[in-house]
Amino acid sequence: MISITENEGNARLTAALPQTMITIIGIEKILPRLEDLALFLPMLAVMGTGQPLTCYNSLYGGPRQPGEADGPEEFHVVMLDNQRTTLLADAEQRDVLGCIRCGACLNVCPIFCNVGGHSYGTVYGGPIGSVITPHLRGLQDWKHLSYASSLCGACSETCPVRIDLHHHLLQNRRNASHAKPIMWQKLAFHLFAALANHPWLWSLTTKLGRLGQRFHGLIKGSAVDPAQAWTKTRELPPIARQSFHDWWKGRG
Ligand code: SF4
Repeated sequence: MISITENEGNARLTAALPQTMITIIGIEKILPRLEDLALFLPMLAVMGTGQPLTCYNSLYGGPRQPGEADGPEEFHVVMLDNQRTTLLADAEQRDVLGCIRCGACLNVCPIFCNVGGHSYGTVYGGPIGSVITPHLRGLQDWKHLSYASSLCGACSETCPVRIDLHHHLLQNRRNASHAKPIMWQKLAFHLFAALANHPWLWSLTTKLGRLGQRFHGLIKGSAVDPAQAWTKTRELPPIARQSFHDWWKGRG
């Protein structure tokens, strides 16, 4: 039995019209008994939108039977593993698979509330996205998400299934520190260290940066924009018009 819960009715529409219904679910979304929906559907609605229950709740049990007026002629269910069994084997973090995607942790997260969902660059944003994406899509490429947190713990406190989100973010950071660093990141840190250790070089770079920022508007978002990975979803923080040193000198 497939359960769909929604507020707009569009999922029901897309399930009603096609002749073939293909449902793709993560393997962690299986409930042992139909009766368990009595707990999960209200919990999801209350934590997600504050409603006692969402407007549309549908159950699909298979293809259309003889004599039935509607429903698909073919009915397929694809169960997706995609690293979930590996995560299940991880005793430290397997509770993450209990997430019901209510979004409550997103709504209380000070980072998510400021940067919005697109900045995460992945389907699941917010605290749970930062925890789970490195597991599903690779720690090396997504470890930066673990740093998108103030570790205030508001997410863990609000989670209805008690996932210890902010500690999992710390564990992801720890695991990432054990992994081999990516070459360009290593280079970037070496470059930063060189600049930070040579004040004249730092001053020169910020002056050049200020100049470059004036022209950046002309190429922003285009294929030749060197910062396009950043500017696709966010603004570049402006470099201050005057450095602290210059301001200090100016005061005599
Ligand atoms: S981690 Fe908890 S609060 Fe966040 S979406 Fe999942 S169930 Fe909801």
